[in-house]
Amino acid sequence: MFITFEGIEGTGKSTQIKLLTEYLESRGKEVFLTLEPGGSRVGKELRKMLLHVDNKDITPITELFLYLADRAQHIAQVIRPELEAGRIVLCDRFADSTIVYQGYGRGLDTQVLKELNEVAVDGLWPDLTIVLDINPEIGLKRATLRNIQDGKAKEEGRFEAEHLTFHDRIREGYLTWAAFHKDRMKVVSAASTPEDVFTRIREIIDPLLED
Ligand code: C5P
Repeated sequence: MFITFEGIEGTGKSTQIKLLTEYLESRGKEVFLTLEPGGSRVGKELRKMLLHVDNKDITPITELFLYLADRAQHIAQVIRPELEAGRIVLCDRFADSTIVYQGYGRGLDTQVLKELNEVAVDGLWPDLTIVLDINPEIGLKRATLRNIQDGKAKEEGRFEAEHLTFHDRIREGYLTWAAFHKDRMKVVSAASTPEDVFTRIREIIDPLLED
């Protein structure tokens, strides 16, 4: 089973992925954790490039192709083999991030993005996508607080500099896109405690787990 997590910064994706991993393992499942960008060897190089380049120094189309290259390699070298080995793959961001960030966020045509994503994923779409939803003002505050607590300048500094209006567009983009793909994409409010959010995720996942 292939499960992806999506959402703006500060929704608590990493926390929920950790809780889900522990839960699935407690049910005897083998879990493989991965992320985009950066889930393969080539992808790690692309991630460095993507997260550090100045916005003024990269066109939206160039950025798009780097994300797609990351995804194509990730699918071929990591995700597909892990699924074939019988593991549950949990991925922090995937193709929907491209639709939402490059499409709704940076103004590229979402239908074109969908077709390019088809090429990159090579037929392998997630069985389930959890979209964690939060008001961007709260999300960004949480993300900033986390970075201060971690005592590190955020690797993704480039993204935090974006305006709140950009993050508003991203949030709306996720909600709109998820409404078009209700079967696969489930929106979960991330406004309550991590435990409450996870309870909701478990309600969604439990019926999909065969014992
Ligand atoms: O998941 P994480 O926060 O590490 O992602 C890093 C950042 O990359 C995101 O916050 C987002 O702003 C950006 N991103 C993007 N386009 C994508 C995927 C991620 O702009 N397709």
